[in-house]
Amino acid sequence: MGELDADGDSSPASKHYDVIVVGARCAGAPLAMLLARAGHSVLLLDRARFPSDTMSTHWILRPGIELLSKWGLLPDLMATGCPPIRRISLCFGSTTFSGEPTTPRGTATTFAPRRTVLDALLTRAARTAGAELREGFAVRDVLREDGRVRGVVGQSRDGRAVVVRSRLVIGADGRNSTVARAVRAPLVEDRGALAAISYDYWSDVPVQGVQAHFHHRAAVSLWPTHDERTVVSLSFPRPDFAAHRGEAERYYLRALRGVPEVAERIGTGSREGRFHTAASLRNFTRRSHGPGWALAGDAAHHKDPITAWGISEAFTDAQALAAAVHAGLTGLTPMERALARYEDRRNAARAALLDFTCEQACPASFGGAVARLVPAIGTTQDVADELAGVIAGSTRVEDFLHPANIVRIMDRGTAVRR
Ligand SMILES: Cc1cc2nc3c(=O)[nH]c(=O)nc-3n(C[C@H](O)[C@H](O)[C@H](O)COP(=O)(O)OP(=O)(O)OC[C@H]3O[C@@H](n4cnc5c(N)ncnc54)[C@H](O)[C@@H]3O)c2cc1C
Repeated sequence: MGELDADGDSSPASKHYDVIVVGARCAGAPLAMLLARAGHSVLLLDRARFPSDTMSTHWILRPGIELLSKWGLLPDLMATGCPPIRRISLCFGSTTFSGEPTTPRGTATTFAPRRTVLDALLTRAARTAGAELREGFAVRDVLREDGRVRGVVGQSRDGRAVVVRSRLVIGADGRNSTVARAVRAPLVEDRGALAAISYDYWSDVPVQGVQAHFHHRAAVSLWPTHDERTVVSLSFPRPDFAAHRGEAERYYLRALRGVPEVAERIGTGSREGRFHTAASLRNFTRRSHGPGWALAGDAAHHKDPITAWGISEAFTDAQALAAAVHAGLTGLTPMERALARYEDRRNAARAALLDFTCEQACPASFGGAVARLVPAIGTTQDVADELAGVIAGSTRVEDFLHPANIVRIMDRGTAVRR
């Protein structure tokens, strides 16, 4: 078995990295970038090659966009011609609530870039910062010594078995994480898989911003992505998926045609023919650190894409974990304590959003608070803007759903109706 030196060759004088990051997409690439920018030696491994696609409907919410901006990558994304999303419309039959999320500086613009574009941009930024990227490298296990993780065991592009050593291994390798399995990271929360999602890309279906239609226990969403395509997705309860197993594509088209406004829109459009469907999307949180290892992104915490938080939360993890690891590596804070704080703060910050997402995805309450509350109470324009902020991630769910805020919204509705 060889060891990897800085050039990826087998060499006895192998390089010992500060950090190995497994997985080079939304969590791993920015994490590697931030650690490399802070002066640490980072090896970024992925079994995929870039640019490449992965299952996603692409919408990056406001906290994710703000991090791209903070990292200096937003101009690069905008230069790719990705259409901005400003307006969010929630449609319940013939009633539509349409608003623009705002920040103190103006409209909270968001984007839904194709992953072929976004992930390539992120890996490029990691390399530019000084991280070493090895594509086509599949990690099989972690290297354990003296009760600690001290590196990874994997297979390089040319098929060689390779060991690489580091002070810390970070699994940013998605919801079926190899690193999590290797370190036996336990689940600290598991709410199971609740909803299914199907989607395709459509041409000649122009859409202004995000449109979400809640219709008979299903949500059909449309938003623009690169190349003048529109992502049209269908979220629906998982039992309905089981009932229509084997005919997911037909079910998708039938559901789209069942929403009159969507049927009209797609009537003149054509599909790219990259139909995707996913139904095993568990809502879970894993223990995210231990001796010599940590987890980030979907590997650490995963929730149903119905609220489209995965990419933004992967970015948030990258930012928070990079700070924790930097503190640990420089001796500012003992590594164990820094990683524990990262995990505790993340879980606390996501509790309300996890409830909100699971309630939306749950078969018994499909659509959640938004689908039931909003048509019942009605909204004024400023409340529609606030609601748009919740959907786009610029308003916190717990603030919007706070009882005092609900009373305020209802009072407004009453005043308007008088
Ligand atoms: C149908 C669907 C629609 C979605 N829509 C949205 C949306 O609109 N907005 C949103 O924010 N989120 C969405 N998500 C979620 C989002 O895609 C994920 O949350 C996000 O990609 C997580 O990023 P990550 O870097 O943690 O993991 P991933 O993107 O899964 O990347 C993990 C990487 O690790 C690599 N890897 C895995 N195992 C190994 C190994 N053993 N060795 C080496 N490399 C390995 C993989 O090749 C991959 O490149 C959606 C998800 C699905 C399934």
